[in-house]
Amino acid sequence: MSKHGTIQGMNTLRSYLDPIARLGTTKYSLVFPFAMSITLCVLSEVFANGIMHNPEIVGVYIIFLNVATIIYFSFRDGIRGGLISAIIPIIYYLYILYSRQYQDERLWSGMEATFSLGVVYLGLAITIGWLKQTIDRLIKIEKESRTRAEEDRATLQTIFQQLPVGIMMVDANGKHIKGNKHMEKILGRKYEGSLEQSGSYKSRYAYRSDKPIAQKNWPIVRALQKGETTTSEEMEYRREDKKRIYIRVNAAPIRNKQKQIIAAVSTFYDVTQEKDLETRKDDFVNMASHELKTPLTSMKLYIEILLLQLKQSPNENALKAIHRIKSQTDKLQELVSDLLDVSRLQTGKLQFSKETFDLAALVQETVDVLQETAPDHKFIVKKKGNILVYADRFRVYQVVTNLITNAVKYSPQDTKIIVSISTSMSRAIVSVEDFGIGIEKDQRKKVFDRLYQVHDPHTKAFSGLGMGLYISKEIIKRHRGKIWVEGEKGKGSTFFFTLPLKKTS
Ligand code: ADP
Repeated sequence: MSKHGTIQGMNTLRSYLDPIARLGTTKYSLVFPFAMSITLCVLSEVFANGIMHNPEIVGVYIIFLNVATIIYFSFRDGIRGGLISAIIPIIYYLYILYSRQYQDERLWSGMEATFSLGVVYLGLAITIGWLKQTIDRLIKIEKESRTRAEEDRATLQTIFQQLPVGIMMVDANGKHIKGNKHMEKILGRKYEGSLEQSGSYKSRYAYRSDKPIAQKNWPIVRALQKGETTTSEEMEYRREDKKRIYIRVNAAPIRNKQKQIIAAVSTFYDVTQEKDLETRKDDFVNMASHELKTPLTSMKLYIEILLLQLKQSPNENALKAIHRIKSQTDKLQELVSDLLDVSRLQTGKLQFSKETFDLAALVQETVDVLQETAPDHKFIVKKKGNILVYADRFRVYQVVTNLITNAVKYSPQDTKIIVSISTSMSRAIVSVEDFGIGIEKDQRKKVFDRLYQVHDPHTKAFSGLGMGLYISKEIIKRHRGKIWVEGEKGKGSTFFFTLPLKKTS
């Protein structure tokens, strides 16, 4: 037999005989304890017959051996194994009493001894066997839960690797980073070891508006250090192979039961294609609106000339037609200028020229102009005195006009539109309230998104492109003000915006 074979044989024998090695296996043999106990009894009998001159000593040996066997088998094969190796010697003791033909006193003391030993043997077998079975059960439970945990880990690992998003995880100390295959594909590199080792402290990878984002401001680091959750944060990522990509990042801390942060996870998508498409769309809108602007300006000029000429030799029908053309051209021009504003906002090219002016007066003027174009609505202005702000007058006028024209558009005729101007702390507050279709709560933030329009099958469709509120929001935001909407669906809406008051020093 080869050395390897011998070792294997020894191991098999050990795992068969050694009760410690068998802990955890619930395969209990009954044949082995039975055969061993019978063999022991037979040997005892042979041995006893051989040295009959000192039966007490022989008895002690036999009892000692029986106790050892019971301990061994109850620990090897549980209660049943122990019971077999306890009952067989008891039967053997009874056989001794019977075969040696003991009488009276001797028989009684023999019976007593057999009974006491029987109780001890059975007690031993049951106690040790129960202990062994309990240990086996605990080991089995432990093994099962370990197997389940391993299976769960393997499943999670597969999901982690196969998910079509980049995933990065880092432990509480930022010492161990782990990323999936998709992360490597998106970022074009591996992240291993600690955050520091990964070189990310020194190297510049993540950018926003062409400025590198310090590592402490990375979403995953913010999640780890401050417990912040990030959703859909966009940033540029400059890969080591010089490729520039855009990623949309989510990040969250992972906490234990005591709410302590034990790790952080970040998921991200490559949105470069989406971004490119958006840029191309913006470029197209920008180009198209520029191209439209020039012919529109000359059209308006010719309309003015025609109007002048018609005033000298009036022709009712022609005048009416020209007025219609003029109002349609005005609408077209507004649309083109909105389109231009949107693309300027997108490219950060919208300029503001600020001055000090009376916001209350501006609102009143706007209402007066718009009241003429919407005679079927009743405008009410609530204001008190002058309210000075330092802002771009034309752009603020654009916001007020947009809110009031929307109020007219989205509310029925013969309803009121209340425009209020007030101050609170260091801010001016303007509100435009209508009693029209209103806006559902979950849509209230979205209406300020670019090209967003509420589509409700229960209300009639309105014309428009969803640019006005987006432009208004951006204008107000860039004046460090706020804009929001309140109200109830079906009852009306109130749009608010604030602007910082001019500082009086
Ligand atoms: P447009 O009016 O051209 O569609 P806006 O950006 O001005 O674009 O408005 C976006 C959307 O917000 C509108 O399509 C409309 O659904 C909703 N909205 C705006 N103002 C009101 C209002 N006063 N009442 C109800 N809905 C409004």
